[in-house]
Amino acid sequence: MKMITRPDALQQTCLECKKNKRIGLVPTMGYFHEGHLSLMDWTRKHCDVLVVSLFVNPSQFGPGEDLAAYPRDKERDIRLAREHGADILFIPQAGSMYAANHATWVEVPELAKGLCGRTRPVHFRGVATVVTKLFNLVQPEVAVFGEKDRQQLAIIKRMVRDLNMPVRVEGRPIVRESDGLALSSRNAYLTPEERAQAPALYAGLCAASGWIANGMRGISELLAGITAYYAEHLPAGRLDYFEVVDPESMQPVHMVEDAVILAVAMRMGRARLIDNILVESSVGSAGERKGEKG
Ligand code: AMP
Repeated sequence: MKMITRPDALQQTCLECKKNKRIGLVPTMGYFHEGHLSLMDWTRKHCDVLVVSLFVNPSQFGPGEDLAAYPRDKERDIRLAREHGADILFIPQAGSMYAANHATWVEVPELAKGLCGRTRPVHFRGVATVVTKLFNLVQPEVAVFGEKDRQQLAIIKRMVRDLNMPVRVEGRPIVRESDGLALSSRNAYLTPEERAQAPALYAGLCAASGWIANGMRGISELLAGITAYYAEHLPAGRLDYFEVVDPESMQPVHMVEDAVILAVAMRMGRARLIDNILVESSVGSAGERKGEKG
């Protein structure tokens, strides 16, 4: 595994590789868990060259967010990337990704203003910009992202389509703990008491998907049901949002008529946890729900 710290060196190496090999890119912020590793394993299998980037991107953190506290373990991450077949691990030196007078941003406002964008107004601009920079440095054939960050995935897919970026974006299923909690680097922030309650976040989404399967179609009913569910099973949490959105546009739907995403964000102590599931429903097919595999 080659470790590269300079953006120009990464670009040069990848330009060379690209001549006769299919490059797959897995962008990450490190502190690897099985979710990250599943993306690497998939890419290893489907591409000739696996490039993993590890960069805690400052521009996607707002003031007062956890940039400084974000969990880091560089040595372990290097070992895991190597064990999972990375050919190139890009760990940019601090300051090398953004010039002091960096002034160019990529935005997809229509998809970025709702859900997490409501409380994190600069987040997706930072994500879209750094992903664009990584695409330009690596020029991958495929870039792989987790469905855990469903809004991020939708934004990147739209950005790639709108700007004709020559890359295929692959979304991969959410990897969960055995009790259902979606793996996240930020789970490290949870106290034992919060961790014990945290699986209820996903259980609530599964309950709501069951209500839809049984014929519930109204958004306010779903919201009332899930609010009560979390009040009972997740009292340590503070609901940031629960929304029912269209899988492609990520816009709220007025009624459950077709496939929808149930998306949730919950504050628990120092952590802010997100989760989502795809519910494939259609009017008249109550009880035939095909749930999320994740
Ligand atoms: P992060 O390091 O949090 O920026 O995540 C890097 C990539 O891993 C993103 O594409 C995430 O969506 C993905 N990811 C994070 N958690 C999971 C998970 N539990 N299952 C699958 N993918 C994940």
